[in-house]
Amino acid sequence: MTHLVLQHNPDACTGPCGLCGQPVILSQGLQLFLVDKRRPVCSCCGRTAAPALAALVGLACAAERVAKIGQHTVSPPLSALLELARAAENYTGTSPCPLRVGERGV
Ligand SMILES: [Zn+2]
Repeated sequence: MTHLVLQHNPDACTGPCGLCGQPVILSQGLQLFLVDKRRPVCSCCGRTAAPALAALVGLACAAERVAKIGQHTVSPPLSALLELARAAENYTGTSPCPLRVGERGV
């Protein structure tokens, strides 16, 4: 079983993907890494090996973009909000046991 972790890095990261060996460039912020080898993982391999973590990275990136836009405008553009909603939907879709409205996870 492949164990991946999320790591917050203030700098971009480059190197071969720890799973497929293809060159990968990870932008600053949340990044997927192999636990044991401490090597970056490309988004394609991340979606296959750990779909929830990969979707969480996408959600965090979308939220960061919307927050940056929101700093300069009263309301972010609809396209940015739709991108954020799509990323949130992707993340919740990866949950093995999605919560229903009104249900609490205990
Ligand atoms: Zn890969």
